[in-house]
Amino acid sequence: MMTDHCVDVLIIGGGVGGLTLAQWLTGLGRSWRIVEREAYLGGPLAHSQYVLKWIPGWPAVSGRDYMAAIVAGIETAHCELACELTQIQRNQIDPAWRCQLSNGRAMVAKKLVFACGAAPVSPFAPAERVIVGPGLQKIAHLQTGDRVLVLGGGDNAAEHALILQEMGCSVVMLVRHALRASSVLAQQLRASQIDFRVYGDALPLNVSASGIELFGESYDYAAVYYGYQPSTVVTDFPVLYGPEQQISRDVFILGDMTGPTYPNILLTQGQAAVVAKQIDHALSGD
Ligand SMILES: Cc1cc2nc3c(=O)[nH]c(=O)nc-3n(C[C@H](O)[C@H](O)[C@H](O)COP(=O)(O)OP(=O)(O)OC[C@H]3O[C@@H](n4cnc5c(N)ncnc54)[C@H](O)[C@@H]3O)c2cc1C
Repeated sequence: MMTDHCVDVLIIGGGVGGLTLAQWLTGLGRSWRIVEREAYLGGPLAHSQYVLKWIPGWPAVSGRDYMAAIVAGIETAHCELACELTQIQRNQIDPAWRCQLSNGRAMVAKKLVFACGAAPVSPFAPAERVIVGPGLQKIAHLQTGDRVLVLGGGDNAAEHALILQEMGCSVVMLVRHALRASSVLAQQLRASQIDFRVYGDALPLNVSASGIELFGESYDYAAVYYGYQPSTVVTDFPVLYGPEQQISRDVFILGDMTGPTYPNILLTQGQAAVVAKQIDHALSGD
């Protein structure tokens, strides 16, 4: 039988937040392990060719390069990849968390940190011609002349509508009530050739293998930018909650999982730094 591996902190999620936390914990002399669902570290940004915004001191860096720089500072032998938590137990005598992983390993940790991010949402059934959420790689296969229906009125929708138009696609942008994109993007949209429309709530989108139909018009693709749903993985483990459904003080959540109004890298990294300091302080007193 494999022996349990003991660490100060088990981090679930190896994206921006989880990796930043790991680096802070290393600096504070605390031991950690990362459990990452994918076979690679870095989260969705690891493959993103976007030039990141709002990262002072990093002019024109792509998500991929930014994450590669962070991953370079990580002891990858301490990361369980293509792996998830399957079971968490705790007993009264020893308050450490006993965790079973999907790769058969077992971990014992004093603190658990969940940094599992958020997934883009769509009210439509998954289909090849329905693209959900931002990412250049998701639209890379579209071609000049493709008719694309962009759904959503925030920054991601506006930005992708402009990119698609630059790629030579014919873009119709449908906004539910009003455009919410930042003023810079809104100005660019207004100055563009993009067909911009406002609609009510019901959207009778008809999706088939050959295309999309809406209000009697047909499109090759629909691209949906309706925001994000934070991961709810914590609720899979009732043992993490107290009698009044409050989460244990030995469990932390950070990054996009906390459902920030404006998810971003700096906020996530700041939260990771704060959580690392809180954990270090708590462990000093344990
Ligand atoms: C395409 C794109 C472009 C962006 N551009 C910018 C930008 O320009 N500037 C900016 O500031 N922000 C940008 N963001 C937002 C920024 O990337 C996020 O705010 C940040 O990554 C949040 O970090 P996180 O650690 O909470 O989540 P993530 O970085 O998403 O990491 C979550 C990790 O958890 C893993 N995971 C999920 N569930 C489980 C599970 N059950 N078990 C184990 N692991 C799990 C995932 O595989 C992933 O690796 C962008 C996001 C995307 C998607």
